[in-house]
Amino acid sequence: MLDIKKIRGDFPILRTEVNAKPLIYVDNAATTQKPQQVIDTILDLYTNTYSNVHRGVHQLSQKATTLYEGARETVRKFINAGSVKEIVFVRGTTEGVNLVASSYLEPLLKAGDEILISEMEHHSNIIPWQMLVERKGAKLVIIPMMEDGNLDLSGLGKLLNNRVKLLAITHMSNSLGTINDVSTIIDQAHARSIPVLLDGAQSVAHFPVDVQALDCDFFVFSGHKIYGPTGIGILYAKEKFLNSMVPYQSGGNMILNVSFEKTEFNEIPYKFEAGTPNIAGSIGLAAALDYISSLGISNIDHYERELLLYATEQFEKIEGLRIIGTAPNKGCIISFVLEGIHPHDIGTIMDMEGVAVRTGHHCTQPVMDYFNIPATTRVSLSFYNTKTEIDGIVRAIQKVKEFMG
Ligand code: PLP
Repeated sequence: MLDIKKIRGDFPILRTEVNAKPLIYVDNAATTQKPQQVIDTILDLYTNTYSNVHRGVHQLSQKATTLYEGARETVRKFINAGSVKEIVFVRGTTEGVNLVASSYLEPLLKAGDEILISEMEHHSNIIPWQMLVERKGAKLVIIPMMEDGNLDLSGLGKLLNNRVKLLAITHMSNSLGTINDVSTIIDQAHARSIPVLLDGAQSVAHFPVDVQALDCDFFVFSGHKIYGPTGIGILYAKEKFLNSMVPYQSGGNMILNVSFEKTEFNEIPYKFEAGTPNIAGSIGLAAALDYISSLGISNIDHYERELLLYATEQFEKIEGLRIIGTAPNKGCIISFVLEGIHPHDIGTIMDMEGVAVRTGHHCTQPVMDYFNIPATTRVSLSFYNTKTEIDGIVRAIQKVKEFMG
């Protein structure tokens, strides 16, 4: 369904050689490469239509504003939000979580309240809540994980008590690949009137996300993990929440009227976009989403599942290799350990073979603690990867084993 050869041609960096070997880039969970369409859009903006947005009556400003607000509509459509008012441009997933912590939860949270997260969260969906509960005398409560990398939801009913003011959970784990059953989790939380934030940093690039169908209250993701630029991301929040929230940062753009006595804030989403926004980032992100839509996110999902299955089968044949994260419903991430060899050495030797993997704790130290390991080597796939590349990765792992004796 996808013409992979043609798609690979869209990504100039995939023609790079590393250590005189063709690059095999499988660090996509950290960040994805950019298609020419995104690069061209940004180049064209700075060459032909760049100006500041919103405040100018001149033509360039109006053109840039149309592109910037058009980007918001592209994002809305991509995740099927009900209104562009619910789309806030932020720096990335991390800033989205921090914004919700400061502007939504902080004013509501009282001593003794609880915030529920899971054991498999990325640090950016742990620390903002941890700092908040410390400030407020509240408590962070953790949904536990099981050996296969699934969450243990058997006790969720009990955890969702009336002290819980928010449940914040990852849609797809960046270190295990687990895709959480968020629909069930959201239903159960909503039955107790508890709002839910989904960390969509890993999910949104790999399978269709419909925020209205999911009925999540907040959804955050980063542009750079979905083939767009760095420094741009999205906070989706239901209108009723955004309307009730206090501003995150203050300054220009987020106001209607200012005097030394009083400031009247702008309407949503502008109330949360203080200062000159990341204009090129937003427009570049829209170009990336248009690119994904032209391929079809369901086609991407289908192809990547096939790739994951093939990679898993090949990896399972390697003696001494143990896959960390074996949940039945997984996205295209394989974390593994090799008996007796430190992941840092694995990554370094694989790099000599042109294979770009990530090694470390992947900003999920509690996951490493659960499995009692310091780190893993992570192969995270994209639709531009191929079975031939997976064979190359397997050969590189064999080389690691030979080299390390
Ligand atoms: N959440 C998950 C699941 C992630 O994988 C990442 C990045 O790796 C983040 C949050 C943080 O994203 P960013 O650094 O783009 O803000």
